[in-house]
Amino acid sequence: MALIQIAEPGESTTAHQHRLAVGIDLGTTNSLVATVRSGVANTLPCSEGSHLLPSIVHYGEDGVHVGKAALRYSVSDPLNTIISIKRFMGRGLEDVSIEDAHYSYVFAQTTSVVPRIKTRSGNVSAVEVSAEILKTLKKRAVETLGLDNSGDELSGAVITVPAYFDDAQRQATKDAAKLAGIKVLRLLNEPTAAAVAYGLDTGNEGVIAVFDLGGGTFDISILRLNKGVFEVLSTGGDSALGGDDFDYEIAQWIIKQGIIKQGIITDIKDQIHSPANKRLIMQQARAAKETLAGSDSVIIEIDVEEHHWQAELDRATLKTLLTPLVKKTLMACRRALRDAEIDKQDIAEVVMVGGSTRTLVVQEMVADFFGCELLTSIDPDKVVATGAALQADVLVGNKPENEMLLLDVIPLSLGIETMGGLVEKVIHRNTGIPVAKAQDFTTYKDGQTAMAIHVLQGERELVSDNRSLARFELRGFPPQVAGAARIRVSFQVDADGLLIVSAREENSGIEARVDVKPSYGLSDTEVESMLRESIEHAEDDMLLRSLREQQVEATRVLEALDSALATDGDSLLSVSEKTEILATRQILFDLRSDSDKNKIKKAIKSLETVCEDYVARRMNSNIKTAMQGHSINDYAGDLSANSAAKEQAEESK
Ligand code: ADP
Ligand code: MG
Repeated sequence: MALIQIAEPGESTTAHQHRLAVGIDLGTTNSLVATVRSGVANTLPCSEGSHLLPSIVHYGEDGVHVGKAALRYSVSDPLNTIISIKRFMGRGLEDVSIEDAHYSYVFAQTTSVVPRIKTRSGNVSAVEVSAEILKTLKKRAVETLGLDNSGDELSGAVITVPAYFDDAQRQATKDAAKLAGIKVLRLLNEPTAAAVAYGLDTGNEGVIAVFDLGGGTFDISILRLNKGVFEVLSTGGDSALGGDDFDYEIAQWIIKQGIIKQGIITDIKDQIHSPANKRLIMQQARAAKETLAGSDSVIIEIDVEEHHWQAELDRATLKTLLTPLVKKTLMACRRALRDAEIDKQDIAEVVMVGGSTRTLVVQEMVADFFGCELLTSIDPDKVVATGAALQADVLVGNKPENEMLLLDVIPLSLGIETMGGLVEKVIHRNTGIPVAKAQDFTTYKDGQTAMAIHVLQGERELVSDNRSLARFELRGFPPQVAGAARIRVSFQVDADGLLIVSAREENSGIEARVDVKPSYGLSDTEVESMLRESIEHAEDDMLLRSLREQQVEATRVLEALDSALATDGDSLLSVSEKTEILATRQILFDLRSDSDKNKIKKAIKSLETVCEDYVARRMNSNIKTAMQGHSINDYAGDLSANSAAKEQAEESK
């Protein structure tokens, strides 16, 4: 496979001119910024010494607060405090459940395709909220590195995204950076960044797993390292599973304890539904969980209105509460291994990423599952930002000798719609990126001068079962007989995972292209369910596909015959011949949408047999007319391309 080097020619600069670039982990729960100084990558702290910036934005009466400053308002002003915004990046209205119990802010009812959250500063989009987080990180970098306030000395940033992020989600991340005044050198997959942080790119070759359990998401990635190149073999996970769910389990436990021991359930239950109390109990649950990473038990105390409540939570109870959730992560690991066609035993290293991997029961169960030691020496919160900083340093040319190549995969096949509502896949899922592939298509009707190109994503055979990414038209190519035009459709996925589709009519050179920026994206669970459906329906789909193809063929034959009859039916056929052809045509016409593919096939065959002589006569007369004034060589290409017709003509001589 041809590998494309990551460092772009224009972006390299002379080695002595050290340029500053940062790596940014834009997380669902926490975000970080890191940079390389004196050859060492480190995350940068805020003025209070904290490296993690909670990914929270508060729209207050006195302006916008980000991070810890915003966290303070999550209990007192939940409606204006935006958490977990990453979940909505690149999503459409269809993707958000307006009443989602997990969030205490509300979406505005709008007519736009982009969902907007209601705040006191107006309705804000996910891109705008993320841009606030990025602005804060940029400011932190400028301040800690002592750069001038414009931030112009910062050459750019590598921003990490989950490996499964689709076009829309990646594009939204880039848009947020733009809004924050940050030049994006590259988007980098989070698992790849984690592997780079551990220096696995310079280590032994082999297959590694990256287990990333954050606040709200779980991602498992299987990477293969080969000659310093990371190839993502597969990705999987659960976009709705993380530390927040741990907190939720503990919160439920807290509520249950309250019922049993205090007998104040009615009060608590009512009050728990207020957003503020919900946040309060969740916060206590989270604090207890985090304490249990370093001690055997913890006392939880909660004051709801005038009720005081207190109980002890120990590790054994925590393990019981969390085991079902950890099991879910292991199931996803099993699926990812299967997708990658890798045995558990062949995994050389398991990189642990994300704050939730500090929970001991997670470490125990994961080590048990893979049967090997886990890489936990780098702080699991900081590992992604660290890897991103190392990559940024290479991209701005501080290490020109370093040839770090990174390869990722596309999660779902990409293709275009063909006649009969079928999908022709151009790039298959799990193909490494960057990638460019082209396929030739042709026209269906005589005299066709335009072609509608419909770009789709998914594994199923029918357009209606796949996701529509974009539509565009190629117009104005010269009219030709059906099948003569050669339209080359090229798909190009760049290293950031963004797709460009172009089409070119080869005879005329007419071109059209589209940068695919769909208005909303797919979550990994949707990707998973699309894959599951494609497997479940594989057989039906194939049957349906061949039926559709037969139906399309019937329509094509009928249209071709009708147009031929209109042109020269009367001059080339006797009345009885024409009557016979029309009778046979009628049989096919009646059967053209039949659900029995064999019946259609037989009717096409009969019609073809009845028309054989007529076809031969047409061929001869056409060639005669067309060749007047031309040499045979002018036709060499067309005639050989039309060899089937030629054979037929020869037979009938
Ligand atoms: P994300 O990638 O989603 O931004 P992080 O990797 O920052 O998330 O992980 C945040 C999660 O890690 C939170 O759910 C937090 O409670 C959890 N976490 C942080 N420290 C600990 C700890 N000591 N023990 C258990 N969980 C922890
Ligand atoms: Mg993370």
